[in-house]
Amino acid sequence: MSTHNSQAIFERAKALIPGGVNSPVRACRSVGADPVFVAQGDGAYIWDADGNKYIDLIGSWGPLILGHAHREILDTIKEALALGTTFGAPTEIEVKFAEKLSGAVPSMEMVRAVSSGTEATMSALRLARGFTGRAKIIKADGGYHGHADCLLVAAGSGAATLGIPGSAGVPEGAAKDTIIVPFNDLPAVEKLVSGGDIAAIIIEPVCGNMGLVEPAPGYLEGLRAITAKFGTVLIFDEVMTGFRVAYGGAQERYRIKPDLTTIGKIIGGGLPAAAFGGRADIMQKLAPLGPVYQAGTLSGNPLAMAAGLKAMEILGRPGTYERLEHLGARLGDGLAAAAKTAGVPHVVNRVGSMLTLFFAPGPITDYESAKTSDTKRFGTFFRNMRDRGVFLPPSQFEAAFVSLAHSDEDIDQIVAAATRSF
Ligand SMILES: *Cc1c(COP(=O)(O)O)cnc(C)c1O
Repeated sequence: MSTHNSQAIFERAKALIPGGVNSPVRACRSVGADPVFVAQGDGAYIWDADGNKYIDLIGSWGPLILGHAHREILDTIKEALALGTTFGAPTEIEVKFAEKLSGAVPSMEMVRAVSSGTEATMSALRLARGFTGRAKIIKADGGYHGHADCLLVAAGSGAATLGIPGSAGVPEGAAKDTIIVPFNDLPAVEKLVSGGDIAAIIIEPVCGNMGLVEPAPGYLEGLRAITAKFGTVLIFDEVMTGFRVAYGGAQERYRIKPDLTTIGKIIGGGLPAAAFGGRADIMQKLAPLGPVYQAGTLSGNPLAMAAGLKAMEILGRPGTYERLEHLGARLGDGLAAAAKTAGVPHVVNRVGSMLTLFFAPGPITDYESAKTSDTKRFGTFFRNMRDRGVFLPPSQFEAAFVSLAHSDEDIDQIVAAATRSF
């Protein structure tokens, strides 16, 4: 593996950008590596600044379910580009985007577009608080919902990767109304919600940010029942799972209807777009109809709307999710078999095309159990895989993503690399 250019770029980056990166996990610190500076992507592959080729299992952390530089997405962006990049006035493409999204995720009776998942969750919580007139919110230990102050408490993803329990700079006041429960612990939620003063529970219906953790049978149903009973707004954070674990997200896969949904990543087609939406009576509390303020200069950006609309349209074609399930199973089963042969304690958690190989005997059902993983061993595995041309998420507490651009041969190559890396 050659590293000459990347090293030089990294040195320049560190002089101006904290840690050399614009989002912390990219720094690859927890796995004892330097960041991979990417020069280009095509389909299932990326090339770094030194010309090394990798099979990519990050897919920009989820958005690229169609693979890199997908022709139809590029053509769509080019067409939209010719008409102008932003107007700060409404456009028809935003309406088409909303129609498509609401059609795919019917619980989103009304939607508003934003530019990042962080904005979506932050806005949904403000709305839930405005709607209920209550302050307290519940989130899961190790659940990640972006970096808004009130959600940076016991957060997963980069915070888990770096071992940061909360974050410096979050004032006590911003965090004091956030209550933490273990994921998959229904009695803990019941006890809190039955007090009648909880505005919302925000939950990843399939956790992806503590590594992948599936909801236990009955857990999501239980959350739905208890929140409905006490007027707590149930928010599914489907920023990662939307259009990933099923076309209509985890709520389609597990057949649960939340009050509000936050969604992002895939719906931008690789450009910055996200959205929140849900029950019309709640959404109508948003400005300009209601008293809850929320806004964005680039919200509903026409390029992002066009790319996202096209991505949703492509994903709606027949056979898509069967293919993703097949590829995910091939990878998950292959990795598990290779680890077993090598005598490595492991468990593979997988839902559709997202999965995590934990270096722990399992079962992994929440953040406590996820933390029993051997992160040092994961670091070695990450570096070995990188050196064999496979780009994994650089953290034990992240999910890997398979895309429609991966071939069976790509998956077999990944498994072969893993067999040698264990
Ligand atoms: C990625 C993610 C977010 C944050 O989205 P950004 O676009 O990075 O701000 C929020 N919630 C979940 C579940 C995510 O996976």
